[in-house]
Amino acid sequence: MIVVMRTGATGQEIDEVKKTIEEHSLEAFLSVGEERTVIGVVGPDVERVEHIHSLPGVEQVIRVSKPYKLASREHHPDRTRVKVGSVEIGAGAPLRVMAGPCSVESREQVSATARWVLREGASVLRGGAFKPRTSPYQFQGLGIEGLELLAEAGAGTGLPVVSEVTDPSQVEIFDQHVDMLQVGSRNMHNFVLLRAVGQSRRPVLLKRGFGATIEEWLMAAEYILSSGNPNVILCERGIRTFEPSTRNTLDLTAVPVLRELTHLPIVIDPSHGTGHRSLVRPMALAAAAVGADGLIIEVHPDPPRARSDADQSLSFPEFGDLMDDLRRLEYLREPVAAVAPPSVAAPVELERLRDRIDDVDARLAALLEERAHLAVAVQQTRSSGEHGHDVARERALLERAAASEGSVLSAQEREMVFGSILRASRSAQRRSSAAAEKTAGTQVAAAGPGSAA
Ligand code: PEP
Ligand code: MN
Repeated sequence: MIVVMRTGATGQEIDEVKKTIEEHSLEAFLSVGEERTVIGVVGPDVERVEHIHSLPGVEQVIRVSKPYKLASREHHPDRTRVKVGSVEIGAGAPLRVMAGPCSVESREQVSATARWVLREGASVLRGGAFKPRTSPYQFQGLGIEGLELLAEAGAGTGLPVVSEVTDPSQVEIFDQHVDMLQVGSRNMHNFVLLRAVGQSRRPVLLKRGFGATIEEWLMAAEYILSSGNPNVILCERGIRTFEPSTRNTLDLTAVPVLRELTHLPIVIDPSHGTGHRSLVRPMALAAAAVGADGLIIEVHPDPPRARSDADQSLSFPEFGDLMDDLRRLEYLREPVAAVAPPSVAAPVELERLRDRIDDVDARLAALLEERAHLAVAVQQTRSSGEHGHDVARERALLERAAASEGSVLSAQEREMVFGSILRASRSAQRRSSAAAEKTAGTQVAAAGPGSAA
């Protein structure tokens, strides 16, 4: 810290500042210039003498190091990896997805969601039991029963669980039921709660206050770290701005900014960050692109009937689509442990199965070729200008595909396959018809005027 004295500050004023610094067991180094004196303050926790800016003769006090130490990269250059249950987050671990309902509503709701998100590749289950709602008349969560149901769903799937703690008195019971405690946006400035979770043996997911700067957020993390808990994960969930088209403004710049300032893992919450289901997927992908260590996503079996945050909760298929995209773009990697070592008999069996798949693929290719030839023949048999495809027959085909019962493929997946075949056929027909028109045009031109009649 540097104390800049006013021009003309008296010797007595300078002495007084020096004395105050030394009284706090810090060292003062004076640099006496022609016009003014500058005093360097050195020692641990120099913030303790920040009040000297109000002493007579002081012009300004300049902080040179970050006010947060334990959270800063300056003091801890290696990135931290936090373990939630058996899942590691941060410091180069693969992107982790935490997912689950905004609120735990029933055993069926949370366990069905847990099974689904596990199947899709999530690594942590979320679910609110104590809900900090804006209105006291809204659903406040199931409380301890909700925590128990969440823990049960976690145990049933093997997923570690995270839930929001709203009061210091709850920390003990949370420690028994969850793998990670969440401090919500509305409580980021609740210093009593921050100190209480700092005494927990569980990691803490610290959400950014919706009106907090990054420095205030890191100072909140500092409260937890300095209370003895080294396992803090930061979660950006959107801040309040003047923009009304989204629930919050998701500050994705926080990721690269925090990377420079802190060693702690960073998670993005595009559900609360946007407030709209349709915006969750693009912003989740953007968060992965910008280097977040994890995502936290609200998922519900029947979003319109969710008792909280219905507008931003993804349905099961929507969550599946998001996970597919994350995999396709290679943000999501399969955990190494999930790849079971093949048994001795497996390679033989696997090869046989793959041979049969190759066979089927060859037959499918031949059938596709045959179908395309027929479609082009239909196009050529019709008078030019008329489209070769018959919309009613195409619709009937898609309906039949959707209705096939007992198939391994879902109705949606079968529609996907037949839809692509139809699109490819149309494209081949269009090409053939364009080629035919071009040839006819050339012949007309070659035959000279009058032949078009
Ligand atoms: C939540 O995660 O359900 C929640 C209430 O989040 P936030 O504190 O970010 O609003
Ligand atoms: Mn919510």
